[in-house]
Amino acid sequence: MNTEKAIAVMAAISKEIEKSKDELSALDQAIGDGDHGFNMARGFEAVMSKLNAAPTANVGDVLKTTAMALISNVGGASGPLYGTLFLKMSGAAAGKTELDLAGFAAALKDGVKGVQDRGKAALGEKTMLDVLIPVTEFLEKEASAGHDGVNALEAAAALAEKCRDGTKDIIATKGRASYLGERSKGHIDPGAASSCLMLKVLAKAAA
Ligand code: ADP
Ligand code: MG
Repeated sequence: MNTEKAIAVMAAISKEIEKSKDELSALDQAIGDGDHGFNMARGFEAVMSKLNAAPTANVGDVLKTTAMALISNVGGASGPLYGTLFLKMSGAAAGKTELDLAGFAAALKDGVKGVQDRGKAALGEKTMLDVLIPVTEFLEKEASAGHDGVNALEAAAALAEKCRDGTKDIIATKGRASYLGERSKGHIDPGAASSCLMLKVLAKAAA
């Protein structure tokens, strides 16, 4: 992935989030406060206006601009958490004009660690991490096996869907959904759904 492609991926994510915002908010209505789609759509609208206005010299810049826009425009838990994800990724991609599968997996690993440090959630608590952690581990393995990036991202998107759907069976122990306890079961986590959406867009763009 080069700088131009990274911007195109953000634009595609923004478009897809806008299309899916009611769906994401409906998921949040079931176990939260119903604002997740709205939060994400507002955030990515800001991301695109920043990316269109500010010069970006490398992939790290694109990720950093994305992070800053999300942090300053998205309220709720997901703003700072996704902001942290992209900010830590930008650190790993700093100065890079190309990001291969290994580079992307390494950046994602830093990003996910940032989300964990910030939100203090682990795997199995019904959050975005239930998609992000398995996908990151999968991509790291694919990269160290020297597998093709496009195929790896396609398989990662399929894994993300499975993990997103798997959040249905989990009782939330972090975030707003945890207030529901047992009653959070039977619903897909909205953050897992938005993470899955981004990974699907990325796989499609890579192909
Ligand atoms: P809020 O919960 O403040 O209304 P959003 O609705 O935008 O914020 O985002 C909710 C999503 O944030 C959840 O579905 C979950 O995936 C994610 N989330 C909440 N708390 C955490 C946490 N501590 N760690 C990781 N993800 C979290
Ligand atoms: Mg919410």
